[in-house]
Amino acid sequence: MREDADQHRQFSQMLQTMRDLEIELTTAIEHGDAIEQQLVELNEQLRHEIRQREEVERQLHAVLDIVNQQKSDLEILVESLAEHGDEVDQRWMSRYDDIEQLTRQDGLTRIGNRRDFDEYLDQTMALCRREEKPLSLIFCDIDFFKRYNDRYGHWEGDAALVKVAQALKDQCQRPCDKAMRYGGEEFAVILPYTDLAGAEKIALSLQEAMMGKNIPHAASPFGVVTLSIGVATVGAGVVLDAQHLVEQADDHLYAAKNQGRNRVISDARAPEAPPGVE
Ligand code: GH3
Ligand code: MG
Ligand code: MG
Repeated sequence: MREDADQHRQFSQMLQTMRDLEIELTTAIEHGDAIEQQLVELNEQLRHEIRQREEVERQLHAVLDIVNQQKSDLEILVESLAEHGDEVDQRWMSRYDDIEQLTRQDGLTRIGNRRDFDEYLDQTMALCRREEKPLSLIFCDIDFFKRYNDRYGHWEGDAALVKVAQALKDQCQRPCDKAMRYGGEEFAVILPYTDLAGAEKIALSLQEAMMGKNIPHAASPFGVVTLSIGVATVGAGVVLDAQHLVEQADDHLYAAKNQGRNRVISDARAPEAPPGVE
């Protein structure tokens, strides 16, 4: 009897243990599912991150390739600059000189412009003053040029300006003599180392050369394009600055206009009849 009771108790205990185990097993299975689900999600997240990193890495490589290419291009450039530096420098310098030259040139007539005039006058006056030599300035203005434009048109007017410039340039025989377009239909000739008598001769030759060009001007009493000319000189005891020299040459040009045009007026000369005209 007592044995039966023990057996029954043992059996109950075993049954209870089995039930506990079943419960634990069920719990473990449920937990296992949740953990597995978490692991799947984590795995997916990791794969995503790996893909992102791979993409970033790929982009970095592409940038690195470009940087390397640029670096090697730069190295080649630096190398070739080092090899041909002098040549490049020279090309730039000559380009700079060309541009510099253009800023002093009149676009229409291709002779010096007003800027060139101002600078050349300052330079040569300083030089002549230092060497105690005379310097002369000739101002020329085309006569009745407005009428010329009105009669033949602006295009022909431009062509006449080019011919006048060429005629003045041709009369500049010494390397330091220089004809420039002062503005509009006015021209200037700077003659360093030239006294008044020499400048008068050149002025007369300019006037004759102009008439010799024989450019028809039916609206002028002279029948051809002519110049009125004023001459002024510094040196030989006469001290004038550039501004006063210009004013004096301009005054003499004005006098040439007032006295009938197509003539040369200088400081010392009395009015003179133009060649071939009463
Ligand atoms: P004057 O004998 O008193 O000098 O008379 P002018 O007609 O020559 O002088 P004015 O000052 O009355 O007129 C100057 C003319 O020069 C007017 C202007 O149209 C012309 N001119 C100035 N620059 C140029 C240019 O670049 N091209 C042309 N075609 N004409 C110009
Ligand atoms: Mg004028
Ligand atoms: Mg004029």
